[in-house]
Amino acid sequence: MRRGIWLALLFCLLWLAAAAWPVGAKGESGKTAQLAVVTADQVNVRQGPGVPYRPLANVHRGEAYRLIEVKDGWVNIEWKPNRTGWIAARYVALAKETAIVQENRLRLRQEPSRDGRIIGHLARGETVWIIKEDGEWTEVIADGAIGWVSSAYLTAARESSISHQTGIVNASSLNVRAEPSLKAARVGRLVRGEEVEIVEKKPGWYKIASQTGLDGWVSSAYVQVKGGQANEKEAEAPQSADRSLLSAIAPSDSRLYVDSWTRGPVQALAGKTIVLDAGHGGKDGGAQSVDGIKEKELTLETAKLLKNKLQSYGARVVLTRSSDEYVPLSARVAMARLYQADAFISLHYDSADDQQASGITVYYYDRFADYGLAQSFEDPLSRLAALPFRGVAFGDYYVLRENDRPSVLLELGYVSNRTDAATVATDGYQEAVTAAIADAVRHYFE
Ligand SMILES: [Zn+2]
Repeated sequence: MRRGIWLALLFCLLWLAAAAWPVGAKGESGKTAQLAVVTADQVNVRQGPGVPYRPLANVHRGEAYRLIEVKDGWVNIEWKPNRTGWIAARYVALAKETAIVQENRLRLRQEPSRDGRIIGHLARGETVWIIKEDGEWTEVIADGAIGWVSSAYLTAARESSISHQTGIVNASSLNVRAEPSLKAARVGRLVRGEEVEIVEKKPGWYKIASQTGLDGWVSSAYVQVKGGQANEKEAEAPQSADRSLLSAIAPSDSRLYVDSWTRGPVQALAGKTIVLDAGHGGKDGGAQSVDGIKEKELTLETAKLLKNKLQSYGARVVLTRSSDEYVPLSARVAMARLYQADAFISLHYDSADDQQASGITVYYYDRFADYGLAQSFEDPLSRLAALPFRGVAFGDYYVLRENDRPSVLLELGYVSNRTDAATVATDGYQEAVTAAIADAVRHYFE
């Protein structure tokens, strides 16, 4: 929900920007009409172009600022009216305008091609920043991730977002809910053909007011916006209540079903190379539980089980170690490069002074190369009943930082916590957690 407000703010900002700032004359050296969009969670704005300069403020992911100059890996921005500062260029993307996503579950790809790896999905109604266009593809920034989408499913922000629009319900029965969530209470129902006023948009949801006096949130997939871009796919959207039900619990993009049916689960990872890194080993035992369970033994067991699962989906799997041996971190990273890993997964078990600390954490380093992979773990790992999922977090680990392949580091439970330690040592947990990881990897490449 916060994200919606945030998008709205972003949007206002753009309009303010467009209204207040003159479009830079082309000949004017060093001045541009571009905006710098922040792509990392929190970035320092410094007095000068370098780390030694004093930080003046913080800017955050998704915020946009007027770009003044780019110099030696640093970007000069106006972070407050008439106040400028520098941020590292690696944490910004340059954009000129926004667009609105017109298709639900629109695929965000790493490359401008149908073969480009899918790094995420965008929701209809979502606002994205446009970086550049290349043929039928547009490179966009969406919620901090950068990728390519098919240009056919974007419309310029100014065309589609103006005040209130009218929509027509195109499902035989459509639930109206108190909040934009499938879990929210149902406040009423609309039927096919009913006309509604769209008063607010959030990714995947419209807030509507019906002529019968109902108001609340509905799935945007079942409301055809009148006078908007006609969407052919949408015209053939769900025709029966059954299909609607299916779509409500699964991605509404029918192509997703086709893909998974034709490919089949067995071949889901064919052609992919996964490097599995069992943390620690040999003289480096890693963390140890009060009962003497060693992290290096757990990680190896997990790696071997996981290897079998991934191979059964057709992946080529390489282990950085397959016995109790010491392997330097640099050698682990080198293997990712050597084998041109499509994904590098480092397996660990956590330890903390706080003996209550419990659960699983997924770490990434690079917001672009690693984040998509890290996010794929969110769903399968939060469904694990055995241990709580603590979330996806930035982690400055050598095997991630020095790795130029998509990489994540998984901390699969705290050996410093008695309950966690007892849990992770069971076959049941090892079986469940490796199944969840294999699922995540499949999702990532889907
Ligand atoms: Zn470790």
